[in-house]
Amino acid sequence: MFNLVIFGPPGAGKGTQSAKIIDKYKLAHISTGDMFRMHISQNTALGQKVKQILADGLLVPDSITIDMLEEEVQNNPDATGFIFDGFPRTVAQAESLDKFLEGKGQKIDLVLQLDVTEAEIKNRIAERKKVSGRADDDEDKLIKRIDEYFTKTIHVLPFYQEQGKVVKINGIGEVESIFGMICAAIDEAK
Ligand code: ADP
Repeated sequence: MFNLVIFGPPGAGKGTQSAKIIDKYKLAHISTGDMFRMHISQNTALGQKVKQILADGLLVPDSITIDMLEEEVQNNPDATGFIFDGFPRTVAQAESLDKFLEGKGQKIDLVLQLDVTEAEIKNRIAERKKVSGRADDDEDKLIKRIDEYFTKTIHVLPFYQEQGKVVKINGIGEVESIFGMICAAIDEAK
């Protein structure tokens, strides 16, 4: 079992690198952002509840997010490990994830921090908006999401740093060279 958190601001490249990691290491991918977008597109009860929150670039309440995530882990009993993408985004989420995994005799093995400057993420998301059509990639919503990151999510880092689990990766450069650094960190932690 190998459980990994991929961490970084919006637009850091979490999705891109996650896809490559899954392919190579055969981990199950859980992206809370993708899950919320799926609920919204299928117009489920959960989707209706969170639609406006996502459109506003705000964080979904912890209780909703944690329940959804735990259910998804339980739905993948055969997974040999998980990559958590976009979760945990608050210290309360990180604490509950630790407790949840502990109850299953598991833990987080590695936290990859993709380090990218604010100027770079703004550029990237402006580019992504042209193809993604994501309403929350609009500039005012983006500012809100970056704000949520720097006020709430950033505190998740010291939580894992105290456990000695964080490896910082420079997220600016070629996709392949960033992936090379990620693989080195995973191979070392495995
Ligand atoms: P990005 O990292 O590019 O901002 P995500 O796809 O990870 O995008 O998340 C999109 C939105 O989904 C967030 O802005 C937030 O509204 C919601 N969301 C995703 N994960 C969480 C989480 N762990 N806690 C609360 N809200 C979340």
